[in-house]
Amino acid sequence: MTDHVREVVIIGSGPAGLTAAIYTARANLRPLVIEGSPSSTSDQPGGQLMLTTDVENFPGFVEGVMGPELMGNFRAQAERFNAEFLTSKVSRVDFSSRPFRMWAPDPSTGEEREYAAKAVIVSTGARSLMLGLPAERRLMGYGVSTCATCDGFFFRGRDIAVVGGGDSALEEATFLTKFADSVTVIHRRKTLRASKFMQDRAFKNPKVHFLWDTIVTDVVGQAKVEALRLRNVVTDEESDLAVAGLFVAIGHVPNTDIFKGQLDMDEAGYLLTHAGSHTNVDGVFACGDVQDHVYRQAVTAAGSGCMAAIDSERWLEAQGAAPAELDETTTEW
Ligand code: NAP
Repeated sequence: MTDHVREVVIIGSGPAGLTAAIYTARANLRPLVIEGSPSSTSDQPGGQLMLTTDVENFPGFVEGVMGPELMGNFRAQAERFNAEFLTSKVSRVDFSSRPFRMWAPDPSTGEEREYAAKAVIVSTGARSLMLGLPAERRLMGYGVSTCATCDGFFFRGRDIAVVGGGDSALEEATFLTKFADSVTVIHRRKTLRASKFMQDRAFKNPKVHFLWDTIVTDVVGQAKVEALRLRNVVTDEESDLAVAGLFVAIGHVPNTDIFKGQLDMDEAGYLLTHAGSHTNVDGVFACGDVQDHVYRQAVTAAGSGCMAAIDSERWLEAQGAAPAELDETTTEW
């Protein structure tokens, strides 16, 4: 059973969720942010920026900022305005009636607890598919990246590789030639999945090379990426490719499993929003990468978190729900 009904619960704590927390907290809505579980690699508190090092394109940081530091600042700013945090992962939701209900394990006992809210902001993000190599995770942010827009700049004048054969891989490879001396696209088959247009553009680029029928079996390097160990899946021949960076571009998956059957989503599982951040369920809002497979930037996620906060505040006002009193009894859970 739940102890009380909150004004707003925010599920997820990347740039979108934490921006929504700052705005709803400043609007006196006393948000509870269910921030994710530190043991989860897919939706850890702070989101994908926790897996990066330097962030140089987030406005306001002239010298750049480390991803975890940036997210720590977002969180501290939300706490300053009395947002509450629950370090746990929502296991199921019921959006079929109001108040909306969510369940998550209690961080200390592990026992499942119920949370209820008049409005919910979903900001569970998306995760990049990874190859699953131990060195890949260890060197994430140290030469391994999932975002060319974010990290391409660090590879000026270097030789790098992109793994994947879809539109993302070719788009990233072409983009990366602005910085790198050479970009080798490593694809596990002989035929690309990418659109003809993307293929033509990549084939025409003299800096882009292709390795067909090839998989990455290891990333070599202790403190940073130095080379890739490769295997040709047809001949079984093994080889090393000296590179300073590996961009993994084998697709993304939105973290939307728990919303299936309740919130409308596209074929790939991204939540569908309309009129800003509204979902198909009145009172449930979505922001950030969970509903955006196009831009996927911290700053666009943060912007959409602001939109969701304003949309939810206006929606609550229209429902006649008064902002929570600044009363400490509302903080128990
Ligand atoms: P995608 O189309 O699913 O392509 C993923 C690629 O990664 C495929 O070539 C796949 O190989 C390969 N792959 C998957 N798992 C792998 C593994 N474990 N090891 C090695 N390779 C692996 O994903 P995407 O490129 O991210 O594109 C997603 C969607 O967004 C698509 O609909 C795409 O058209 C769209 N998109 C559009 C644009 C644009 O229009 N500007 C840009 C980016 C993305 P196989 O081919 O062998 O399966």
